[in-house]
Amino acid sequence: MTASFVGNATTSIYDSTDLTSLSWMEQRWAAWYIYIGNPVLATGLASFLLHEIVYFGRCIPWIIVDAIPYFRRWKLQPNKIHTPKEQWECTKQVLFSHFMVELPVIWFFHPMAELFGMRTYEVPLPTLRDMLPQLAWFFFFEDMFHYFAHKALHYGPLYKHIHKLHHKYSAPFGLAAEYAHPAEVAILGTGTILGPILFAAYRPHVLHIATVYVWITLRLFQAIDAHSGYDFPWSLQHIIPFWSGADHHDFHHMAFTNNFSTSFRWWDRMFGTDSSYRAYRKKMRDMKGKGKAERDRVEQQLLAEVEAEGIKAEAEVVRQASGEKVKAT
Ligand SMILES: [Zn+2]
Ligand SMILES: [Zn+2]
Repeated sequence: MTASFVGNATTSIYDSTDLTSLSWMEQRWAAWYIYIGNPVLATGLASFLLHEIVYFGRCIPWIIVDAIPYFRRWKLQPNKIHTPKEQWECTKQVLFSHFMVELPVIWFFHPMAELFGMRTYEVPLPTLRDMLPQLAWFFFFEDMFHYFAHKALHYGPLYKHIHKLHHKYSAPFGLAAEYAHPAEVAILGTGTILGPILFAAYRPHVLHIATVYVWITLRLFQAIDAHSGYDFPWSLQHIIPFWSGADHHDFHHMAFTNNFSTSFRWWDRMFGTDSSYRAYRKKMRDMKGKGKAERDRVEQQLLAEVEAEGIKAEAEVVRQASGEKVKAT
């Protein structure tokens, strides 16, 4: 294969690499680093652009779904549709943290990746076979980390000062996935990036940053879909029973005290932090033989009860946090 676009271009980082034997994707990868001419900026910019394109690209279908009444039949909390104005307010907060918190630190991405033993500009890229076990570990680790960190964020002072912002929406929507305090973005983002770092530390120079980009793409899809507010018959949790999905996380925003994990259901199951959720699901399963009107009526009643309890539980956490503050001063 001829790498015509790289032609005779030579930069020191590719001096020992035969660029003509690469696949189309690998040629693009090398071309990006050659075009930018500075590996630190090339990795930083690629990471930032990936985040922006995947995040907003994945949110667009959900914005369209929200605007079409036909889809309301699969909305988990059908009475709560956020207006374009509310969605724009949310978008502004997300953009603010992307540009004010993430953009200035892109200079650290490349040195950090190299420090922790990741490959960056190097080609060839990893194969799917190389990637799969690494991606499985990242998913497992992030879900575990998120479960405990998220539970900690529901502790009074941490909740009041940090996590409360994310709970502004009791019925979330795609764009709300990263609607959070910068400290929360840092704490929960650690779970996303620590899995790759631990892997790279354990097996230096095996993990390629391209695999980390695939992981971040999948993780963003997971987070945005979990906040979408829709449970379709073809949603992943109906195919993989231990996948959390929107049904699981929507309930967290509504009930406040259940369902702390991200991708999988096992930690909540193991620690019993899904008891209200499972009781609600069981009641709905028991209603299967009844007519649709009756099922809808009971579902609305159950959801209203869960939400009322959630509001009470949240107020109690904030009250306790304020009480502690009063005592401390
Ligand atoms: Zn929460
Ligand atoms: Zn959430």
